[in-house]
Amino acid sequence: MEGSVLAWIAAIGWGVVGTAVFAVARMLRQESRADRILCLLYHRVVPRETYDTFTGTEQIFSTPEDRFRQHVTWLLEAGYSLVSLDALTEHLTHGSALPPKPVFLSFDDGCESVYKNALPILNDLGAPATVFVTIDENAWIFHRGEYNERRMTIEEMQSCEAGGISIGSHAVTHRGLNEMSRDEVLEELVRSRETLSEWVGVPVRHFAVPLNFYNRKTIELCKEAGYESVCTSDNGTCNRDTDPFRIKRFIVEGSYDLPAFQRSLEPRVILQKRILNALKKIPPKLLGERIWMPLRQRIFGIGGRWLTFRYLRRALLAGIALGFVGLVAITLRAFA
Ligand SMILES: [Zn+2]
Repeated sequence: MEGSVLAWIAAIGWGVVGTAVFAVARMLRQESRADRILCLLYHRVVPRETYDTFTGTEQIFSTPEDRFRQHVTWLLEAGYSLVSLDALTEHLTHGSALPPKPVFLSFDDGCESVYKNALPILNDLGAPATVFVTIDENAWIFHRGEYNERRMTIEEMQSCEAGGISIGSHAVTHRGLNEMSRDEVLEELVRSRETLSEWVGVPVRHFAVPLNFYNRKTIELCKEAGYESVCTSDNGTCNRDTDPFRIKRFIVEGSYDLPAFQRSLEPRVILQKRILNALKKIPPKLLGERIWMPLRQRIFGIGGRWLTFRYLRRALLAGIALGFVGLVAITLRAFA
């Protein structure tokens, strides 16, 4: 190739590297803040015997009971304070004080095992949490194929609410909100809030975005629908400056034993998750939800353990190393 073309590629490449280094340094500083708040996301908590039969991505989305108890017990022993979503929202909205090293625990979807298996553990340890429920029991999330759990019953939701796991909304049908019409989104937001409030007998004030598909318009509609906070599954920690309508949470994978769980809370690991998260948002953005969702199901079907953070992180690091070596080679060729 012509030398000047290579020189241009090298110059652009190093420009990208410089920008990336700057962005990463900025993110690392954000993740290392002393006032950081960890918001953890689980989905299902299952008996160990059940967990050991999983081979696909349910290894990520289900956590064995004994492991879940270990995680929460360790947090308490390590001096973390488990806080409710009401307290967190109050802090982000009005600046009210939070106890030291705050952690917020949440569960998405509203599957029965949160009531059956997580609630007794949380009660035992005196830890608050929130479960975000998708109200339609026929929604695809309760009938996925690999492993299915039914939605909690109304009585189970009431027991959760009475037992310290507050109920939030996770929409009606668990579909991406960013490609629906305004009326459809409002229907998902308002109907789920009103129905859940009626079921549990207290106003439901918080929303968690299904599939993490949202945009600026979605957030505006959440405010219009009367919510006081919105939880996303954008990776990263929160702090005093976080918008209560964009609370970041990260998924605690079911495969995390205690050392892996402890590592997953370190700023540099959260940073790696943020980078992966940004990359994961590219395919649905490029392809659109209608094309991406069936494809995602296929990939998840065959992906299994290769989609866990452990392997994705290795792929990311290998990709960076390869890119870097390639860029050095191009630079040497261009200026040799
Ligand atoms: Zn969900």
